[in-house]
Amino acid sequence: MLDKVLQAIRDRHRFVVTSHARPDGDGIGSALACGQILRAMGKDADVVIYDGIPRIYQELPFANRALRAQVVPPNDAVILLECDSTRRALLEGLDQCFLINIDHHVSGRNFADINWIDSSVMATAELVYRLARLACVPIDRDIATCLYTALMTDTGSFMFEGTNEHTFTVARELVLAGADPAQCARHIYFGHSTSKMRLLGAALTHLHRDGPLAWIWVTQEQMARFGAREEDCEGLVNYALSMGDVQVAIFFRELPDGRYRVSLRSKGEVNVSTVAEQFGGGGHKCASGFSLDGPLAIAVSKVVDRLRPPTSVQDSSPE
Ligand code: 5GP
Repeated sequence: MLDKVLQAIRDRHRFVVTSHARPDGDGIGSALACGQILRAMGKDADVVIYDGIPRIYQELPFANRALRAQVVPPNDAVILLECDSTRRALLEGLDQCFLINIDHHVSGRNFADINWIDSSVMATAELVYRLARLACVPIDRDIATCLYTALMTDTGSFMFEGTNEHTFTVARELVLAGADPAQCARHIYFGHSTSKMRLLGAALTHLHRDGPLAWIWVTQEQMARFGAREEDCEGLVNYALSMGDVQVAIFFRELPDGRYRVSLRSKGEVNVSTVAEQFGGGGHKCASGFSLDGPLAIAVSKVVDRLRPPTSVQDSSPE
């Protein structure tokens, strides 16, 4: 399938590269690297992200040339990274374009003209790296930095289940090509805003437990009170997962329309992607997400009921 992707790229000139709305490190790093790889192949390439580049990724190479838009610009083809449908990218006009889908989610779908889905890799960045290698595009320091950041974030700093010697081989090659691990980590893990930390404090004040489950939430009112942005919510779920006896953590974020975005994280015993799919979402075994209707109490009970193991006993002191 990689051959087909490369041939489709060689046959065309003007590309748009995009990823899903509320993009994470793999979506951003892979898209920025892919855009540059296309340019190195002599193509025109615009990286277009519906929500723009989140603050913690704005220092990445090429981030300043990425476009924030609602409508896909004119093109010969669009490369969608990390999307299971055109809907995930939110850009208008995608359905009229020639689409190339590159993804590593188990919940990935064949919605495009060419679909390269490989769930054996930890990050879409690994697929973009393979594409560059096959196209004989030299991996310079800037491309390596984008791909390394993508790999680092999607592996949870090389800690998530599935990280293996192959992951480290790719990471090593990216470091040899010029990626600086400490510098990449500094922007992501030591670049938080004050409002994010205040939001985290509020969320942890209402930490709930039920057997191996832990959940937290943030409301629109809290976000407004702390001046927090949507992107400040990224990663909060990991604090709930960090307790020794927690197997699955759930994070609920109230949306402006009263619905809830849900992030699920697992340490590996529970496959949360199957639960996310039951609610119309998707993702990976250890990290997945979806949206559902409020109010909060109903949303929480629906999700917790689906995840609660039959024998778990309610914690009597949830807060
Ligand atoms: P997060 O919880 O950080 O939003 O997402 C975790 C993982 O699940 C990511 O790989 C993300 O792409 C995937 N994911 C989150 N929400 C959705 C969704 O609504 N649909 C699908 N298909 N995947 C999702």
